Amino acid sequence: MSDDCLFCKIVKREVESRFLFEDDICVVFKDIHPAAPVHLLIVPKKHIRSVNDLISEEESIVSHLFMVARDMAKEQGVDQSGYKLLFNVEKGGGQVIFHLHLHLIGGWKR
Ligand code: AMP
Ligand code: ZN
Repeated sequence: MSDDCLFCKIVKREVESRFLFEDDICVVFKDIHPAAPVHLLIVPKKHIRSVNDLISEEESIVSHLFMVARDMAKEQGVDQSGYKLLFNVEKGGGQVIFHLHLHLIGGWKR
C-alpha cells in the first residue's frame, strides 16, 4: 500500500467509490470520466506502480485481472458487441494514476 495513492485509498475505502465487483485480488469500479458508455477500471488490491514494475510472482494477479474483465464485459452486456482492454504505461503512455489498472471500455452504438 502506498499512502498517497488514490487507488490504494479507494481499495481501503478511504475514498468513496462503488465497487461493481470485489474479491481477494482486485476491485472493479466505474471510471469517473468515462471514455465510452461502459468504462470500468479493474484494479489490483496490491500497489504496483505500472506494468514496468511487475515481477514474476505477480503474473497470476495480471491474468486474474483479465479473467475478471472477461466476466465484467459479459455482465455489462458488451462481450458480444466488443470492447477494449487497455493498460496505459507511464506518462508517455497516458498513465496518470500510478497504481496498475486495466481499463475495460465499450458499449458504443454502431
Ligand atoms: P490512467 O490514465 O490509465 O492512469 O487512468 C486513470 C483513470 O482513472 C482515468 O481514466 C480517470 O478518469 C480515472 N479516475 C481518476 N480518479 C478516479 C476516481 N476517484 N474514481 C474513478 N476513476 C477515477
Ligand atoms: Zn496504490
